[in-house]
Parts: sequence; C-alpha cells; structure tokens
Amino acid sequence: MERGVTLLSGGLDSCLSTALARDHHAIVLALTFDYGQRAAGQEIRAAGKIAKFWRIKHQVVELPWLKLIGENALTDSRRRLPQFRDLEKLKNKKETERSAEAVWVPNRNGVFLNIAAAFAEALGAEWLITGFNREEAQTFPDNSSDYVTRLNRALELSTLLFPPKVKSYVQAMDKKEMVAKWIMLDLPFDFFWSCYEGGQKMCGVCESCARTKAAFQAHNLLEKITDRFLQ
Ligand SMILES: [Zn+2]
Repeated sequence: MERGVTLLSGGLDSCLSTALARDHHAIVLALTFDYGQRAAGQEIRAAGKIAKFWRIKHQVVELPWLKLIGENALTDSRRRLPQFRDLEKLKNKKETERSAEAVWVPNRNGVFLNIAAAFAEALGAEWLITGFNREEAQTFPDNSSDYVTRLNRALELSTLLFPPKVKSYVQAMDKKEMVAKWIMLDLPFDFFWSCYEGGQKMCGVCESCARTKAAFQAHNLLEKITDRFLQ
C-alpha cells in the first residue's frame, strides 16, 4: 500500500476523506495546522481524537505568522463572522462570496500543502490527503480539482525523491453526500469540529456550521447533532 499524509483539520470533510483514503493508503501522519485561527484548540482536539481512533501519528504544525500578515475574521476575534441563521442564505451566491472574503487567509491551503509535501517527501509518502470538496470549491478556488491538478504538476518539480500527489476522496461530493457516506461508514457524530469559532460548542450560525446543519437536515438527521451547537 502506498503511503499517505493527511491534512486533518478535524472537520467533517478532512475526517471523511481520511476515512475513505484508509482503504487505499497506509496513512503514516496526520497534520493539523495552528495558524492562530479562533477554532485552533477545538480543531486540534478533534483531529487528535480522530487520529487516535485510527492510530495515525498526529502532529500539530504551528504557523503563528500567518495570522499576523493579513486581517480576517477567521483569525481575528474582533471581526464579526458572517452569520447564516437562515440556512436558505447558503444558496445566495453574493452572501457566500462575502463570507468567503471575510474568512480568507492569504494562500492558506497553498502554504499548508507545500508544508505537507515536505513532510511527505521526507517520509517517502506518495499521497497528500485533503478534504477538498465540490461544495466549497464553488466559493473557494483552493478547494477545486483544477487547483489540485495544477499543484500536482508544481509538486513534480518542487520535490525530487518522492513527489507526492494531492488527492481528496470527497472532491466530487457536496456536504449532503458526505453526510450520507458518514452514516454509511457509521462514523461517530461527536467526531468532528466544523465551526469557525472555538467555543465549548459549535456556534451553529457561521457558514461552516450552517453547511453542516443543512447537510444533516437534508437527511432528516439534524437532531443527531443538535446538542453540539449553541443554537
Ligand atoms: Zn460555527
């Protein structure tokens, strides 16, 4: 089995992609990035729990400079996160674009994947597993399959010994399809942290929470995770 390094944020997407990748690769390392995001503590906790569940070595990579070079609502708690109390708002392209701009961290996934590629090359791992998906690719270009194709070409030249390839096992899915897979695999509902905030419970109104809620609601399963949200 070829080796893989997974980029595990502790969210629904990266957790499910890792679960599916385990059928194809020996996952030798899970990386979680702490870039000063509001949810860093909860994301690290969730990713650690998931990695332990599958007995994957877990490493947190600290990037404290990333929050210092650009202001955004994901890392600066003085800024207001766009709210999606009404889940219908997710269908409004203007609103989701506004939200994407508010939480945009400069070249974040580009930075993460190049760091992960260094780990993969050093470990002799051929694959980098991410949670990129069709739903988020609509507003985030760094989630798209186009980005993956082009990055893979660049990695062929920026690595020498073991050129790793990026792959998301949820690339073609939206959140609803991911929840269906989650249920099929019987993964625990208290496994993931999919909130931009880092409180005791997930806020329930940020875009990420709203997308998670909408996906569970589409399967009439919102009550399974209601306890995990503040509202
Ligand atoms: Zn939230």
